[in-house]
Amino acid sequence: MPELPEVEVVRRGLQSWVSGRTIADVQVLHPRAIRRHLPGAQDFAARLTGRTVGDACRRGKYLWLPLADTDTSILGHLGMSGQLLVQPQDADDEKHLRIRIRFADPLGTELRFVDQRTFGGLSLHENAPDGLPDVLSHIARDPLDPLFDDATFHTALRARRTTVKRALLDQSLISGVGNIYADEALWRARLHYERPTTTLTRPRSVELLRHVREVMTAALAVGGTTFDSLYVNVNGESGYFDRSLDAYGREDEPCRRCGTAMRRRPWMNRSSYFCPRCQRAPRPVA
Ligand SMILES: [Zn+2]
Repeated sequence: MPELPEVEVVRRGLQSWVSGRTIADVQVLHPRAIRRHLPGAQDFAARLTGRTVGDACRRGKYLWLPLADTDTSILGHLGMSGQLLVQPQDADDEKHLRIRIRFADPLGTELRFVDQRTFGGLSLHENAPDGLPDVLSHIARDPLDPLFDDATFHTALRARRTTVKRALLDQSLISGVGNIYADEALWRARLHYERPTTTLTRPRSVELLRHVREVMTAALAVGGTTFDSLYVNVNGESGYFDRSLDAYGREDEPCRRCGTAMRRRPWMNRSSYFCPRCQRAPRPVA
């Protein structure tokens, strides 16, 4: 799954290459990619045609394009393998091209949704009064959002009575943190993933947030340098940031802080990577 920095890179690409353009026509090449839009492909195409795309928006891992002069937005679901590509109109179709959006201008490029496994797709939604697509109303602000409130987060964290990694992945508490960046931030904060949130003091949760932000900002800086072309791309977990990871994927490799072999444990159908020395397991509750 792409995480916040990857999605932000895509958002910036859409802002540069798609925002402000008027849609000329829409081709849905695979019905599965449009299944979240319940009225179907024809309705989707009809409601987009002639509309101008507004500023590309993101909350957490969710990405949307508001349609100007309407109260609707196109929501992009990247799923496991979804890509939004801006391609020259005369470029060959990708093997897994699912949706094509052409524009009514002479720029010569089009927006393509390509998805090998078609877990992702596009859908059209009404906006809530705050401008957010209605289906995102339960998604909390993400830690890079200027309006994210650290004090509220800390209070909610303590009240949730869960463990710290579960809390970081809870999109109703804090959005945009996935498995990779949770492990990275916990390693930096020297916190074990099963640490109960009720034991986190306010300075500890503020420190954890700082590490979450630093990890994401560093990833964005790397992604931003490779993203200076027409090609808007997001491709799951692999990609820009592998080389700079300190915890995720480093089983049996030495901790970059203390040299102890890093460990991997199964965790909620995924894995948690941690240093057994820097990130001590919480004492079992008697
Ligand atoms: Zn260590």
